[in-house]
Amino acid sequence: MTQRQAMLRDIEIEVELTRHSIGKDALDPRVMAAMAKVPRERFLPDSLRHLAFRDGPVPIGHGQTISQPYIVALMTDLLAPEPGDTILEIGTGSGYQAAVLAELVQRVYTTEIVEPLATEAAERLSRLGYRNIELRRCDGYGGWPEHAPYDGIVVTAAAPHIPQPLIEQLKPGGRLVIPVGLPGEIQELEVVEKTKDGGLHTRQVLGVAFVPLTGGHGAD
Ligand code: SAH
Repeated sequence: MTQRQAMLRDIEIEVELTRHSIGKDALDPRVMAAMAKVPRERFLPDSLRHLAFRDGPVPIGHGQTISQPYIVALMTDLLAPEPGDTILEIGTGSGYQAAVLAELVQRVYTTEIVEPLATEAAERLSRLGYRNIELRRCDGYGGWPEHAPYDGIVVTAAAPHIPQPLIEQLKPGGRLVIPVGLPGEIQELEVVEKTKDGGLHTRQVLGVAFVPLTGGHGAD
């Protein structure tokens, strides 16, 4: 078994262990195929590449982490991505989650607040040949209005509350996947669905631990 296959097996085990919370026994096979395809080792600092397939978060510098593979897979699945979709990510970090999404949808917009991480991720994604990802260094609290509305929005840092601009930038029928809660505490991974008539339906999926959403909450 290759290390990447072992990572996929670990994701399946975690899905099985959390099936009552997440309400499913298996993730979308397309999501698993994207996880199998993206070279996770290329998203880590050279000295930590040996940790690439361990099912846990790994430091990427500047106090940030690349999320655990299971959490990346779960959040991607919760977005229910379709091939024609346009997705917005807040918190590019290494660019790994954006790359997984780019395998599944037409276009990915991603924002990162830490300048060196944004620069490194942009270089990495271009080196790896991803042409359907656009990256911007900014405070993602305000989303990315120019390309809105989005079929899905994923926030990969913990927010104390759901940012209103992200709700506004969601298409009717679209989904926002976001860890809500305070840093240092367990947050709730929430899925907010905007119904066709513009109403909101929120579901709490799982307790998670993310680094905090920083910035001036819109002020940049
Ligand atoms: N999705 C990333 C991991 C995210 S770690 C990956 O696949 O590697 C969370 C990231 O969110 C960090 O890089 C952090 O700098 C960024 N971040 C925190 N607050 C932010 C904000 N307000 N806007 C944009 N990015 C933010």
